[in-house]
Order: sequence, then C-alpha cells, then structure tokens
Amino acid sequence: MKSFSKNITAVATILLMVALVFSFFMGGEPKPAALTVNELVDKINAGAVTRIEVSGNDLAITLKDGTKATAKKEFESGFSETLKNYGVDQSALRQVALEVKEESGVQFWIGVLAQSLLPLLVLLGFFWFMMRGAKGGQNQVLGFGKANLKLSAPGGKEKVSFTDVAGLKEAKQELIEIVDFLKNPKKFLDMGAKIPRGVLLMGSPGSGKTLLARAVAGESGVPFFYISASEFVEMFVGVGASRIRDAFTTAKKHSPSILFIDEIDAVGRQRGAGMGGGHDEREQTLNQILVEMDGFERENQVIVLAATNRPDVLDSALLRPGRFDRQVVLDLPDIADREEILKIHAKNKPLAEGVNLRPVAVRTPGFSGADLENVLNEAAILAAREEKKTISQDNLFMSIEKVVLGPERKGRIISDREKNVTAYHEAGHALVAASLQDADPVHKISIISRGRAGGYTMKLPTEENRLKTKKQFMAEMATMMGGYASEQIVIKDVSTGASSDLQEASKLARRMVTKYGMSDVIGPVVFANGEEAVFMGRDFHHEQRSSEAMSAKIDSEVSAFLHSAEDLAKKMLITHKKILDAIAKRLLEKETIEQEEFNELIKEFDLKPLAI
Ligand code: ADP
Ligand code: MG
Ligand code: ZN
Repeated sequence: MKSFSKNITAVATILLMVALVFSFFMGGEPKPAALTVNELVDKINAGAVTRIEVSGNDLAITLKDGTKATAKKEFESGFSETLKNYGVDQSALRQVALEVKEESGVQFWIGVLAQSLLPLLVLLGFFWFMMRGAKGGQNQVLGFGKANLKLSAPGGKEKVSFTDVAGLKEAKQELIEIVDFLKNPKKFLDMGAKIPRGVLLMGSPGSGKTLLARAVAGESGVPFFYISASEFVEMFVGVGASRIRDAFTTAKKHSPSILFIDEIDAVGRQRGAGMGGGHDEREQTLNQILVEMDGFERENQVIVLAATNRPDVLDSALLRPGRFDRQVVLDLPDIADREEILKIHAKNKPLAEGVNLRPVAVRTPGFSGADLENVLNEAAILAAREEKKTISQDNLFMSIEKVVLGPERKGRIISDREKNVTAYHEAGHALVAASLQDADPVHKISIISRGRAGGYTMKLPTEENRLKTKKQFMAEMATMMGGYASEQIVIKDVSTGASSDLQEASKLARRMVTKYGMSDVIGPVVFANGEEAVFMGRDFHHEQRSSEAMSAKIDSEVSAFLHSAEDLAKKMLITHKKILDAIAKRLLEKETIEQEEFNELIKEFDLKPLAI
C-alpha cells in the first residue's frame, strides 16, 4: 500500500515536471504566425522565404526579414508534392533552403504525452489526493484508540471547590475522604485500610455530579483525568476498549491521580440487554473497564470516579466490591439546600433590595441544582429585558413559572368563550385542592397560557415528604380531576384542555395499583409495567409480567380509582358551587390570583376542608 502510493507520487511528480518544462519551451518565444499553404506558396513565389524546416507535417518557415512563421503540409503527401499541387514556382523554390528533419523521438513523445497523458495526469493527481485523504482517515482511525483525555477539571476552566457545592452533605463527606486518601495515603495504609478503587456518583440529571467531580479535581491537588463515556460509543468496535486502556495507563503513569468517567451508563449497561447487534462495542468497553479496575495494584493510587443518572441500568459487575464499591447518591436538594444553591448562583447577580430567596426555594420542589441555576438566569434575563438594574422578587417568581411551564404566551388571542372554559377549569383544580385536607395548598392560579398549558394552578406541598399516603394520592388525583369535573358541571361539556390532567391522573392511578399496593382488590403485589425496562432488552424477556386475567383486573381497578377521584371532585365542586363561581369570576377579571388573595377569597365562604 505504502510503496504503491509512493510510486504514484514519484510518477506524478515527474510527469508534472515534464509538462512544466514542455510548456515553458512552448511559451518561451512569441508564437510565429501560422500561414496557409496558399500563402506560403505565394511567399515562396515572391522570393520572401529563405528557409523551411520540415518535421513531420509541421513546417517552420524563416522569412527574408527574419520573422518566423509556421505552416502545415497535407497529410501523407510529400512536402514538394504539396507545394507543387499549389503551383509553386520551381525556380523560386530552389532559392529556399529546405531542411527535412526526422521527427525527433523526444519531441514526438512530448507531443503524445501532452495530448494523451495530460488528462491521465490530472486523473492520477486526483487519485493521489484521494489516497492522501484516505491515509489521513487511516491515521484518524488509529487516533480513535487514544482516549480523549482531558487533564484537570471537566468543563469550565475556573477552579471549583467544595464550597461551590451546596447541600449534598453525605456525598461531599465521602469525597472529602477520598481526597484525604490521595493526600495522605500513608495514614490509611498504615492502618491496613484499603484505598477505595472506584466511587460511583449517582443522581438525576443536573443534581451536581459533574460539579462535584470538578470540586474534587480542584481540591485534591493531584492530576485529574476526565473522560465522558458517551464519547466512546463510536462506530468501530474495539475503539472504546482501547480508549479505556489508554485512559487507565495514563492515569496510572501519573499516580496518585483521579480518573473521572462521566456518564458511565453509556457503556456500563447490563450486558446482554439490548437486542440485535450494536451492543458489542459497549460490552467490550465495559469489560475493559472491569479488567482495568481489577488490574490495579494496591500501591497504585488511582481512584476512579464515575457518574451516572441511570444506576438502575448499570451492570452489576461494575458495582461489585473492588470496583465501584463506594456509591454516593446525590439527592435532589431539599428546601434548605435549594436556598443555598440559589445563594451560590445569585452571588454574581445584582438582586434588588429586600429580595428573599427563601420563597423561591419554597416554590421549587423537585428542582435540581441545574434547574435552580436556570431560574436565576431566566430572572436575570427578565430583569434585563425590563431595562432594570437589579433582579426583583417578581422576576424570580416569573422565571420559576417560565422554567416549569414555558414562556407566557401573552400574544395568543383567546376568545371569551375559551377564557371562560379555562377560568372554570383552573378554578376547579384550585377549589378541589382547597376543599380537601390531604391536598397540597394552592400557591397561584392563572389563566394566562404558557407553553402548551392553557392555564395553570400551582400547588405545592407544605413539607417535603418522601412518603406519601393513599389519602394524599387520592386528594391529588381528585385535584387533577378538578378541571375536568368543573367543565362538566358548569360548561356541560368537556374540552381538550383536560387531556394532560387525565393522563397524569391515569398514570398516578396505575402506579397506586401496580406499584404501591394501594388497591384492596389487587393487594400487595408489584407488577412490572415496563417503565424502567431497558428498551427491548433483558427485562423485556425475563421480568415477570401480569397474566391476562390480572391485567384486566388491574385495568378495572385503575379505572375505579379514577372514577372515585372524579366523583370526589364533582362532589366538592357541586357542594361549593358558589365558591367555584367566585374564583372563576376573579380569574376572568385579573387572570392571575396569588396565594394570599386566594385564601382571602375562600375565607369569605367559610370553607371547611374535608378529610377523605
Ligand atoms: P449532572 O449531575 O447532570 O452532572 P452538573 O454537575 O453538570 O449536573 O450540574 C449542572 C449545574 O447545576 C452545575 O454546573 C451547577 O451550576 C448547578 N448545580 C447543581 N447542583 C448544585 C449544587 N449542589 N450546588 C451548586 N450548584 C449546583
Ligand atoms: Mg454531568
Ligand atoms: Zn388542568
């Protein structure tokens, strides 16, 4: 392959040079005038020609005044014969020095080359470039095997420390310990303690896994290598594995060091899961990780950090002791942590006098650190758009809604009829929530459409409880049904606006039945519903499913739950129809009702929340 391309290069170069030389000689002098045979004969007869060189069919003519000219004789006939045919004066011809040249070999070949080989030359040159390109590609393929290792912190350049990470106390503690291991290994080795090999950070997207790893990089003071496993998933089988090998080799060379594999689930999925081909590459890569982690010597002070938001799909071999034996779960922040995170990200933003981040934290349950950062950013954008110098509390509240529901669509023209339907729909949600003891309190109602929602009712849990009861779920489900029920009662019709409510309610009901054992009919049995199954993978084949008879029973139970939620919602709305009208009326007037105003409004009616 190599010698072939080398030859081509040599040949191409020579041909190019020949062509160059040729064209140089051709273009060296001014081109002599070309004469027709008639003109030539006339000139000979007039005695104006001193010399003619004949080579092949070409005639090089020198005139008396010293100028040159060319002409062509007829093909396949002698020179004098041609001239005779044109009636040359024989005596005049005799005055001309005639020289007949053998067509020289070189000239002949140059002519042939120029005419027939030049296109070929161009073609060859083209192929040559193609070859070069292919060779480049080949080199790239070889380069694929090299891990795309980045020394030091992933992402941004600025150094991150543990103080930049709010909350996540347990995770931080664990990682501080790791950093300590790396800084004073002797202390631990003397005690006979093994240095952990792998630490797996698990948490939902945006919960701060990468951030925490960056903090470790900033604090540890040892070389920190960063790769993202998603970069391994390449077309070529074996590339991922060789990259892993490369990464571990580099990390070992610089030990003590930390190797951070971000998004390891991209390669660390359960082997055997996934149908068809395409997972071979992942398997090989995963196997290589396992091999490398087993190959660590105890003195080899390399700690492997990995992060994933899908610990459920990870291969159990990865989680075995000696590999990622430390697993750190990053929970979504609770209220206090959210306030801390907001404070951290508010540092470089000008907040208006008296802005309180606590209520922002209250209104953002379930938000990740990244979401909270986004809230502050959106608030800053809103403030800038209003040409203000500082960010107000209102900007913050508005941005929460924007992050959750999408931007307000003020421009959308809504007919009075549609507005009326939306007002009663949202009032229905709010009233059902207010009339049930176990429902979450209403924070805000609005009929300004946002994103895909026509209007919305914001309800927030008073305390963040990880445990939920059946009664709470029932109240939640009834609240979801509130909009639908209200439309039926007041408008005597159902709009498409209720569809996402119904969808959510159905999902909740199904979970109650199949997951939490909250149905008396089905009892305490959990069924796989495919929610978390690896797509078309192992679970698809092996996990136990419900029988057809059981499926039918589950379906009927789910529907029973939904019906009782609907009945409950309707009962509440019919009982308090006056309040429903009042809320809807206020909504039509003001479009948005905040929590205090809502509470005032209900107070007038002396509503007593019902216990289910
Ligand atoms: P992931 O867990 O998906 O890797 P990241 O670590 O990339 O999430 O977090 C995204 C961003 O969210 C971070 O850059 C940071 O600004 C913010 N963030 C997340 N969690 C926290 C936290 N506990 N404290 C401060 N900022 C956080
Ligand atoms: Mg990340
Ligand atoms: Zn609704």
